[in-house]
Amino acid sequence: MKNYDVIIIGGGPSGIITGVTGKKQNPDKSFLMIKKEKKGLVPCGIPYVFHDLDEISQNAMGHKPFIDAGGEVLIDEVTNIDINKKTLTTKNDEMFQYKKLVFATGSTPTIPAFIKGYDLDGVEYIKKSYDYIDNLKKKTDKAKDIVIIGGGFIGVEVAEQLAKFEDKIVSLVEMEKLCLYRAFSEEIAEKANDLIKKTNVKLYTNNKIEEILGKNGKVKGVKLASGKELKADLVISAIGYKPNTELAKKAGLEINSNGAIRCDNYLRTIEKDIFAVGDCSQTIGFVTGRTDSIMLASTATAEARILGYNLFGIELLRNFVGTLSVFSTEIGGRVFASAGAIEQSAKYENIEYVAGEFTDFDRHPSTIEGAKQLMVKLIVSPRTGTIIGGEMCGGKSVGELINVVGLAIQKEVTVYEFVSYQIGTHPLLTTAPTKYVLIKAAEMAIAKMRK
Ligand SMILES: Cc1cc2nc3c(=O)[nH]c(=O)nc-3n(C[C@H](O)[C@H](O)[C@H](O)COP(=O)(O)OP(=O)(O)OC[C@H]3O[C@@H](n4cnc5c(N)ncnc54)[C@H](O)[C@@H]3O)c2cc1C
Repeated sequence: MKNYDVIIIGGGPSGIITGVTGKKQNPDKSFLMIKKEKKGLVPCGIPYVFHDLDEISQNAMGHKPFIDAGGEVLIDEVTNIDINKKTLTTKNDEMFQYKKLVFATGSTPTIPAFIKGYDLDGVEYIKKSYDYIDNLKKKTDKAKDIVIIGGGFIGVEVAEQLAKFEDKIVSLVEMEKLCLYRAFSEEIAEKANDLIKKTNVKLYTNNKIEEILGKNGKVKGVKLASGKELKADLVISAIGYKPNTELAKKAGLEINSNGAIRCDNYLRTIEKDIFAVGDCSQTIGFVTGRTDSIMLASTATAEARILGYNLFGIELLRNFVGTLSVFSTEIGGRVFASAGAIEQSAKYENIEYVAGEFTDFDRHPSTIEGAKQLMVKLIVSPRTGTIIGGEMCGGKSVGELINVVGLAIQKEVTVYEFVSYQIGTHPLLTTAPTKYVLIKAAEMAIAKMRK
């Protein structure tokens, strides 16, 4: 039986970053990563495999950085863990002893077992598996009528990509009144939905799929709650993901009400020397302080870095608790992003807030080629002026500007500090110094707080 100081189960973003960070901090310790599949892929890049990328290999994500750092990799599946003996066994009947064990087993798509016909041939998922997506791409290439269930960011991104093929009819069905309703306030979600409608995607919001229709065991269409039927050669379900925690449960770890492995701020589970990181581990909302079901690679890798530094003792203090769920996507050439609280979540959690909003161009003067409208909304706690959330839409700069807001939320920056925030501006690169959109949104919030 081989013996390792650290064994990591899973080779997704959280497994790799835990391994690379941990091994670099502890070059004298032995690290083994056990992962199910040889080839990995960038999960966030999956939607672009269906159209924009020429082939799936352009979206590959290997474990080379971990090997380069001195780690070892085994392609196998961990099937059993004996917590008392600190051993684990794999599908290929290998047995290992560990000193520290990391669960980085990720998440898997939610199966819509509540929809009649969910088990027909031709109902597919967006699985984070290279071979599965490679195969699905062959199926989407052949299909003419494709129905996507779920207008969250994954459903929207996949639908938009598939709809770029002019010979396909791509329908997106969302039960809420708007797609992306969990990530954006109504006004911003509406802008995103208007853009989805301008693509080739046929959008059915406020609509549920009542049944997936089939013939001889194969998908032929869907029936909506409204009674309308849509033709389909392929149905892709994108209704969410659930933490992959069967193995952890079997090993005796505590699972929380969201199905994630319970752990503390340092990713330690209830069992000494066992950690859980990424999509499979418990997430706490930064603003609410409650368990949350957000699963993002940005959150997973932030946790992984903390864990990598602290595997053998707390070296790096975690000076924040909880996920901000900084989220961004691009629809019809416009970028939408949010961080922390949005208006719906603030209302739902009974959090007092004011919203400060400002719109201008992301270049100056606005007549400069490539200038795009930039809208920023800051969600602010009115008693202290602390920024607790932000939403924006605009050009590519939004992808990084939202990270400025994310940092502001994490460091509990107030709008009063934001108005004296020192900025660099340039006509070809940023909004004008006289009306820098982030600062103007902070001023708008201050004006509301004074009322
Ligand atoms: C289509 C899509 C787009 C996304 N876009 C974004 C985005 O733009 N931004 C963002 O921040 N996030 C995005 N996400 C979310 C992001 O992909 C996840 O948060 C991230 O993959 C989590 O990483 P992880 O390592 O925790 O888990 P996973 O990526 O799920 O990896 C877990 C790995 O563990 C392996 N494993 C599980 N059990 C075992 C076992 N018993 N033995 C061995 N191996 C095992 C699995 O095979 C898998 O490879 C997207 C997700 C999808 C599906």
